[in-house]
Amino acid sequence: ASPIALRGLAKHYGATRALDDVSLDIPAGSFTAILGPSGSGKTTLLNALGGFTTLDAGAIEVSGVDMAGVEPSKRGFGYVFQQYALFPHMTIAENIAFPLVSRKVDRAQIKERVTRMLEMVELSHVADRDASQLSGGQQQRIALARALVYEPAVILLDEPLAALDRRLRESLRAELRQVHDRVGSTFILVTHDQEEAMSMADRIVVMRNGKVEQVGTPAEVYDTP
Ligand code: ADP
Ligand code: ADP
Repeated sequence: ASPIALRGLAKHYGATRALDDVSLDIPAGSFTAILGPSGSGKTTLLNALGGFTTLDAGAIEVSGVDMAGVEPSKRGFGYVFQQYALFPHMTIAENIAFPLVSRKVDRAQIKERVTRMLEMVELSHVADRDASQLSGGQQQRIALARALVYEPAVILLDEPLAALDRRLRESLRAELRQVHDRVGSTFILVTHDQEEAMSMADRIVVMRNGKVEQVGTPAEVYDTP
């Protein structure tokens, strides 16, 4: 796993300060939730980490390496973003297998890991359908499986459970937590849902108006009036 250091990040849209001098250390192997109301800068922060947004100021280091100018695909992160679309002409199983196939993992390993992921997101029964035939919630689950299947050192998740019903959301919270604990990757999860942050993360970063308002364990954040 890789420690991440954010130093003095700033991003302005006209007069809006989406990120206003954000400095933060994200420990290697932590499950960190970025929590805050709509418009507080959570997605901008995650996009900056992923390399999808240029910054007006500041630096991002991953394991001591400056990420300036490093493309998203070269950062070694797994992404679960709304805009990270599935391959519509591949089946669900092929979508999930893709990161393993492109890394030349052997066939028996691929089959085993894809089967396990399909079970986790409860889509084994539709494994051979085209990804284009699915509902939004099903697509979200495949995106999650595709990002987790190759166990990247850092995984960025933007509201990954938002489109799901309550039962599935709660089941996947526990599953995500288990994958985190088993693999030891650094998970960074953006959410506006306090209950979600509390139940999954070991560290919560509270954002407001583009600034980090508070950093602490779930208990510390919960106890703050
Ligand atoms: P959150 O994810 O917490 O809802 P965002 O990071 O999406 O917050 O947005 C932070 C602020 O920056 C908001 O005021 C939002 O309207 C603004 N913002 C984000 N992206 C853009 C953009 N591409 N153009 C203009 N304003 C933006
Ligand atoms: P989220 O709720 O996940 O933060 P948003 O709906 O706020 O997503 O933003 C979706 C996309 O629109 C993002 O890429 C963001 O940068 C952009 N965006 C957000 N606010 C604005 C804005 N005021 N003007 C232009 N683009 C924006």
